[in-house]
Amino acid sequence: MPARTILILGGTREAAVLAERLNNHEGIRVVTSLAGRTENPAPVAGEVRIGGFGGADGLAAYLQDERIDLLVDATHPFAARISKNAAEAVAKTGTQRLVFVRPEWKPSPADQWEMVDTTQAAAEALPADARAFLALGGQDLSAFSGREDCWFLVRMIDPPSAPLALPAHDIVLGRPAGDPLEEEELLRLHAVTHMVCRNSGGVAASAKLVAARDLAIPVIMIRRPPRPEGELFSALDDLVAAIG
Ligand code: NAP
Repeated sequence: MPARTILILGGTREAAVLAERLNNHEGIRVVTSLAGRTENPAPVAGEVRIGGFGGADGLAAYLQDERIDLLVDATHPFAARISKNAAEAVAKTGTQRLVFVRPEWKPSPADQWEMVDTTQAAAEALPADARAFLALGGQDLSAFSGREDCWFLVRMIDPPSAPLALPAHDIVLGRPAGDPLEEEELLRLHAVTHMVCRNSGGVAASAKLVAARDLAIPVIMIRRPPRPEGELFSALDDLVAAIG
């Protein structure tokens, strides 16, 4: 019988690393929750459950049914709804909640970033005739559907199940390359003039920003949505130490 059960709200690389680290702790049962958005999620240590909970109430019921002692919200900085639900659910159940948030990317003097608050604002910020690399989630693309005067490059992990609601575009399948030179090659190959991305932070997706800087491509950077208050950690070592 484990002494503590920890629910990690995951779907990020850091959540998987955290599960791996906590899974080695004696007396801890680790359950990672995934939304089920990707067809072949990377393997995760410990137990995994997949799919929504049914809002904050559903999550609160799950916390009680599974006797969760600690909820760690390690979801993506732009996954605003689940983070809000988590804050509401623990307020109902009295479960302890810790939050891991990746540090934001910061521009260097050589970067040309225009900061905007929403995907819609990013779509409006593109100049006519732009060839824009949209480094965004599939759910964000519809904001660009009215920009008939632009061309788009979209990178997706899985092929889309229906045609994208975008004017002229190409799709490249795969994850972000870790090597800026590979990202530069992609941008050059498609004669990209602008990049649109969200300030997700993290190492895995930062190579494209180095590539944009090296090619002097302007970046329209979408700021993070607000998150609920909570005990925040931006380093996994500190979070693991706090869990004990
Ligand atoms: P979201 O908009 O915040 O959440 C929408 C709904 O999806 C939630 O209300 C919840 O459904 C369900 N959900 C989200 N994360 C869940 C999780 N970890 N476990 C169980 N259910 C979850 O979320 P999203 O932006 O679609 O992101 C979904 C997942 O992908 C998250 O785990 C996130 O960490 C990961 N991810 C997101 C992004 C991104 O750009 N947003 C990027 C990389 C990874 P119910 O209300 O039914 O519980």
